[in-house]
This record gives sequence, structure tokens and C-alpha cells, in this order.
Amino acid sequence: MPAVTAVHDASGFLLSSFRDREGLAMPVRETEARIEQVVAGLRSCDHVRWMSAASAAEQAMEVTRRLHAPEYLAFLADASAATAGDILEPRFAEAGVVPDTPVTPGAYAAALQAVSAAVAAANALTGGDRYAYAVCRPPGHHAGRAFMGGYCYLNNAGAAAQVLRDAGQRVGVVDVDFHHGNGTADVLRHVPDVPFLSLHASTLDAFPYRETTPRGANQQFVAFRAPPSADDYLERLADHLGPFRHLDVIIVSIGYDLVEGDPHGGWHMTPGFFQRLSRLFRETDRPLCFIQEGGYALPQLAACARELALGLA
Ligand SMILES: [Zn+2]
Repeated sequence: MPAVTAVHDASGFLLSSFRDREGLAMPVRETEARIEQVVAGLRSCDHVRWMSAASAAEQAMEVTRRLHAPEYLAFLADASAATAGDILEPRFAEAGVVPDTPVTPGAYAAALQAVSAAVAAANALTGGDRYAYAVCRPPGHHAGRAFMGGYCYLNNAGAAAQVLRDAGQRVGVVDVDFHHGNGTADVLRHVPDVPFLSLHASTLDAFPYRETTPRGANQQFVAFRAPPSADDYLERLADHLGPFRHLDVIIVSIGYDLVEGDPHGGWHMTPGFFQRLSRLFRETDRPLCFIQEGGYALPQLAACARELALGLA
């Protein structure tokens, strides 16, 4: 039974506010509790083994400096060190996107810790492991080179891609979160040899609430205007995986917000869908690096993560 190397360190980060598309306060659903559920689901599987990302911290800082703009990182560091309140900065939202995610005390440290998890997972693959799963929090796929949004500050999947490229691996990123990976598209736009595929709900109806177009010839976006069935979704995914079957490693930005009842979602997948999803990736016969993105339906998350892991057993 192939093992899955899971990486997680609890940060205890508390995001204290969040805005909707009109800029109005809404409930914060990006919480430590959701990641505890993901961890519990993975812990229920005998073939998942665990490691800390602590030893990857320095490498994560170095990769972060290459992936993100210096002025953006300086802002994150300064705003995170502020002792009081939330800081919402329109300068560091993506053009045309309403700022929704404030920088709160501790945000930068937590985001760097999430990057460390992604880097450690990538290192596990270069060290010969077959499957790795970085249980990142906060998520990263809405974070661009110089913008935050959608609960994301630093791009974890982009960091994993950078580490694998540095190790001479041909790598691509497939984003299967409910929401479009606008930040990953942005950080990868200057990295033309890393293909990026994002399948998502229509970006007019869901974050980032605007039309999006690929940032280069090797980026493919598949948007669903209506909730797809599991069969439809997996068929569309399989149709687009061609360019990824010849790579050395596939990074999967995994979001569980496709599941029925997700407060940021709107689709109707069951937890069992995620076993079919990971089996489809497994059938590419490539090493896989899963990076945790969204997923906010607390009662469903443990089952979603367990099913995903079972698809790799
Ligand atoms: Zn999402």
C-alpha cells in the first residue's frame, strides 16, 4: 500500500474578520477547526504518515521571496506585527477585486508556516515519496505575486512548484477547488514551463467575481456555470489532464468546497467523490503533491479528506 506523507503543524492563527463582495462583514469560515477535521480524516487512515514542516522554514522564506513582490511581503510583515485590529489594504487586492481578507496579527507567520508545509511536501517527493499532502492553513491559491484575497496571503502551491523545479522536476499544477485559482495563475505567469489547469465554478458567480482569462499558453481554465454531476466533473478533468501525464510530478490544489453544504460553495458532491478524484490523479501514474486550499463544511471535512486518502491506498 503506497504511503501518503502528510505535513501539518497547527498555527492557531485566528482570522478575525472577512468581507463579502460588497465589502460588508460576513462570518469567518477559515478556521483552525476546519483543518482539525481534515487532519482527523487523514489520521483515520493507516497508510498516512506524518511529518512536521519546521525544518523547511528557512527554505520556505527563500522561496516566498522569489514568488512574491518585495513591497507586498514588507506590507504583510509590517501589518502582521501591528498590535491592534485588522488592516484591509486595497493596494494589495487583485485589480478589479473587492478587498475581503484583512491582515490580522500573526497572519504573516501563519502564512509562512503554510508555505513551509508545502515546501516540506515537495521535498518529500524529491526524496522519493510517491504521495504527499500539505495540510496548509491559511490556504494560498488566491494569493498572487502582489495581492491577497479569499483567505489567502502566500501561494503555497506556487511554492511547491518552485521547489520541485529547483530540483529539476517537470511539474504542473491542477486546481480542483470550487473557486478559481487566480493567485496561482498570477504567480505562475512568469514560469512558462509550469502548466496550470483550474476547474472551478463560474468566476462571475463565485470569488473573484469577475471574468478571468489564462495568463499564458499553458494555462487552461474550465468554468462551470451550473453545478456539475460527479461524472461530468471527472470527465472534464480527465479530458484536460493530457499535458500533465508526461510530467514528473503533479501538484493538486485540493479544495473540499465542492461538497454538498459548503457555505462558500454551492455544488452537490459527496465525500465519496474525493476518492474518485484522487484515483483519477493516481491513474496518471505520477507522484502527487496535494496542497490544501478551501473546504468549509465542518461536518463533512473529515470524511472528504479520508476519502481522498483512500483513493491513494
Ligand atoms: Zn475555495
